[in-house]
Amino acid sequence: MSKYWQRRIQEENEANMRKSKAEVQKLLRELYRKESLILFHQLESTFSKILKDAAEENVVHLNDLYLTDKFYTLIDYFNECASRIGGKQVTITEDSLINIYELAHATVTHNVPAAIIPTSFTVPSSSLLEESTEQAVRRTWCIDGKNFSERIWGNKQALVQDLTRTMTDYAAQGTSPYNMAQGIAQRLAVDESNAYRLARTELAHFQVASQVDKYKELGFTHGIFRSEDPCDECGAHDGKTYTLDELERMIPLHPNCECSFDLKV
Ligand SMILES: [Zn+2]
Ligand SMILES: [Zn+2]
Repeated sequence: MSKYWQRRIQEENEANMRKSKAEVQKLLRELYRKESLILFHQLESTFSKILKDAAEENVVHLNDLYLTDKFYTLIDYFNECASRIGGKQVTITEDSLINIYELAHATVTHNVPAAIIPTSFTVPSSSLLEESTEQAVRRTWCIDGKNFSERIWGNKQALVQDLTRTMTDYAAQGTSPYNMAQGIAQRLAVDESNAYRLARTELAHFQVASQVDKYKELGFTHGIFRSEDPCDECGAHDGKTYTLDELERMIPLHPNCECSFDLKV
């Protein structure tokens, strides 16, 4: 059973997480809505020009794309769109990570009773003291060895490929400029849900990482894995004791994992 102050830490963290997720979701929605409109208009006007130059029908064919210099213009639009989204997505994600990191730090600081702080308190290593929050949230923590920014840019390469493939699929069937532009622009919705999922996963991790940093700074060493509504994977760890370093590496165990830990005192 967790103690009263641990309950309070848990509740503050949950409230902060809900707010952070809602804020990120709102900002991403605005970003993608705007970019989707820009892309739609660029594409529709370019496809209409291609149609005027080429076919006698009302639909754009694959050959019409390849046989005009507009093909590279279209790929440029995809690249520009992905790079604008990526740049803003990094900022939105990073701001939210810095915010959750600082909130979780403050939550620990003002809730842990002074009486339980270990007497054998050791001065934290200088690297931990000198690391800024901006540096802290850029740490790599997954097996892939990438930080959130690198993961975002990897997703943007995949986005350009997806948009290009969608365009050639539509053109292979022969599609009107309007339907083709709309079908391609709608693919941004898939990227938006990836962006939101990535932010949620990073938020979950850096809320835990911040607690771990603060507890270690205070001289604590272990925590107890806590899972409110565990799946099989998370349930296997529920209630078990781990070192703070282990907990930092473990959580979240998978996308949408909401597990956390209690300090072992
Ligand atoms: Zn789980
Ligand atoms: Zn979990």
